[in-house]
Amino acid sequence: MSGTDAPILLACRDLSVSYGKIAAVRSVGMEIREGQVVTIVGPNGAGKTTLLSSLMGLLPFSGEVAYFGETTTRPLGVEKLVRRGMGLIPEKRELFGSMSVEDNLLLGGFDRWRQGQRNQRDTLDEVFGIFPRLKERRRQAAGTLSGGERQMLAMGRALMAKPKLLLLDEPSLGLAPLIIAEIFRIIADLRQRGVSILLVEQNARAAMAVADYGYVMEAGEFALQGPAADLAKNDRVIETYLGIAGAHASADKEAAGA
Ligand code: ATP
Repeated sequence: MSGTDAPILLACRDLSVSYGKIAAVRSVGMEIREGQVVTIVGPNGAGKTTLLSSLMGLLPFSGEVAYFGETTTRPLGVEKLVRRGMGLIPEKRELFGSMSVEDNLLLGGFDRWRQGQRNQRDTLDEVFGIFPRLKERRRQAAGTLSGGERQMLAMGRALMAKPKLLLLDEPSLGLAPLIIAEIFRIIADLRQRGVSILLVEQNARAAMAVADYGYVMEAGEFALQGPAADLAKNDRVIETYLGIAGAHASADKEAAGA
């Protein structure tokens, strides 16, 4: 387990994001420390993706964000964040469909290559070690992969940049239960390898099981927060996200083939 005295990789304070007059994120504060998996769970429209997008440098915000020790009041930009060790995996995965699995992965390491780090093949082998399925399909076009394989490729591509911190937006979205279990097993494995993870999820049960600390987001604010093990025992969390209602929600999603 990571200690709460480990260095803070990413933190925000009093962070708000609006779309015109709509306040999607309202004055939230959070932090993620080295070695931690931190999760943000909550219902549709709670503001999770908006928060993550602003932390990723994709949306303007008000308030403060601290990345690897530097505090800023404006988005630093994706390229800078990636150079500093942030890996971004957006909900839409954003792969190059007509390119092979291997070429998508190599693109993930391109910036490191450009910086003169030429050990891409070693990193590729490491990624194939984590995702043997991608190795089997290395010559296949990314656009022909299954949903789960696409998620693995998106994660693998981010890992090619050797990130310290991965920001993952709903990695379980639209995936079958067995594949979800595999994705979460890989998240736990990455943590063991020293990658810290900020995980936005609707699947609160799986997210709480893998996380050290959790935030419950509702209507743009953090309604609850605490060690994930404690949140998983919290009556309100159980009733709203983990209990029968939660089970129905995920069953509905599966039935809809989401
Ligand atoms: P989900 O789990 O469904 O992805 P979420 O918690 O990630 O939901 P967001 O996508 O961040 O929620 O949306 C938060 C609020 O901001 C919602 O009310 C949404 O309609 C609104 N919103 C999101 N994107 C935009 C946009 N580009 N323009 C205007 N409003 C937006």
